[in-house]
Amino acid sequence: MTAASHWFPAPEPGPRRHPPAAVAAVADALEPWCRQGLKLLRHKRDLQRLSRDEFYYSPVLVPRLAGAEAELVVVPATVEQVQAVAAACARQGVPLTVRGAGTGNYGQAVPLLGGVLLETTRLQRIRVVSSNVVTAEAGCRLWPIDQALAHHGAELRMVPSTYRTATVGGFVAGGSGGIGSVAWGFLRDPGNLLGLEIVTVEAEPQRLSLDAAAAQPLNHAYGSNGIITALTLPTAVARRWREWLIAVPSLAAGFHLANQLRAASLAIKELALFDEHVVTAVAPLQAGGDTAARRCRLLLIAAADGQDLVEAQLVGGEAQLLIDQPDAAGNRASLRELTWNHTTLHARAADPAWTYLQLLLPHDPLPVIRSMGRDLTTPAGCPAIAWHLEAVRSQGEDRWAALPLVTWRGLQPLAALMEQARALGCVIFNPHVYTVEDGGLGAVDADQVLAKRRYDPAGLLNPGKLRGWEELQPQP
Ligand code: FAD
Repeated sequence: MTAASHWFPAPEPGPRRHPPAAVAAVADALEPWCRQGLKLLRHKRDLQRLSRDEFYYSPVLVPRLAGAEAELVVVPATVEQVQAVAAACARQGVPLTVRGAGTGNYGQAVPLLGGVLLETTRLQRIRVVSSNVVTAEAGCRLWPIDQALAHHGAELRMVPSTYRTATVGGFVAGGSGGIGSVAWGFLRDPGNLLGLEIVTVEAEPQRLSLDAAAAQPLNHAYGSNGIITALTLPTAVARRWREWLIAVPSLAAGFHLANQLRAASLAIKELALFDEHVVTAVAPLQAGGDTAARRCRLLLIAAADGQDLVEAQLVGGEAQLLIDQPDAAGNRASLRELTWNHTTLHARAADPAWTYLQLLLPHDPLPVIRSMGRDLTTPAGCPAIAWHLEAVRSQGEDRWAALPLVTWRGLQPLAALMEQARALGCVIFNPHVYTVEDGGLGAVDADQVLAKRRYDPAGLLNPGKLRGWEELQPQP
């Protein structure tokens, strides 16, 4: 096995089993529901558009996923309609893939074996909202949920940087964390998901309420083991946040300032560092004019009542304040949209040769940053790696995650870089694979497979994405 085939396996999703007539039979069965608001989309343009997500960040995934396409898209407006779709697919043996807003980066919502794509964005009811908990239907976008919570003095604990577009169901089924993870950790951490309502894929689909423990196997399972129709999430106390962009002379200086801020009595919502190569690649980070001597950046979103404290950290140091503005959440101008995978988005918009990695760095991140990619040759002026770091809480500890930009030079060099990262003590969350396991810690989670057996016994949901299930199937 080469390093490339180790890091980028291309598991076969199993042979297609359903004949085209089965999808037509599903459409016929659903036709009566159209009078009650269910939408069926069959136009080639819709099938192509909705069968894609944002997997094009990965030049490894593009050729592997580009050909996959749904044969029918259904857009239910109620849970009863979701049940009707699940029943029709189960009776005809047709694969069923759920899609929220389609902002996932690993082809999570791409229907590998065709079949039916269920789009959730009309399941938008916020059912319960209070100061400490919210129950929302899966297709609700995150920003409107936060607006509803604001009336109760609360907010979501963590959101992806796709806060304005992503659905809450897609975030829990396909995402991991983001803005807020500096304080609250990741979605998978106990306490960050309180319950789910799901629909099973059976001839007579059940509508089940799962408590926190029962919901956990569906958390980040790419919709492969249950259709989520509503989610119950804990909240945090809403604060007035403020956004700062600060120029620093080096990443080491950035770490020093970041550690001072993390050690202070300051509520922090988001804290990121960018090296000079990222700043060159991402135009909005260059805000503030000529900062030739301070080419790195620290981005901070913290409690507005900590403004004096933040400013005091800057006095007498080498840092220079570039932007200091009220939190603009829900607005394109917010610094939130320079963080997490939005950094990669901006860099790729300027130069599509950038791709990326996702790492949890060891406790001392500096040795990794100093040595990783340094031995790799690239064309003049083109760094092998550009460092984008995100402060996170992982298993109760303050840590740094990284989403480094990487110059794409082919499978082998990318695999070599990942080998290096592993040898240096990084945990790799591989964004160039489409199975749940290979994008995570690599191991099969028996609880996820068991949940699939219970809630999707015929294995119709998002086929090819749960490796643990595929490995149990008889080989043709
Ligand atoms: P989709 O992409 O539609 O779906 C994601 C997965 O969930 C798919 O496997 C789908 O089948 C499944 N799914 C969706 N709805 C359901 C349901 N109701 N029931 C069962 N399964 C379901 N992710 C982060 O975690 N943090 C970030 O900060 C972040 N930043 C990003 C920035 C950019 C610019 C981009 C392009 C992506 C980013 N992502 C991030 C990835 C993605 O935006 C988020 O994970 C997002 O929350 C996914 O939501 P979605 O509605 O688009 O889900």
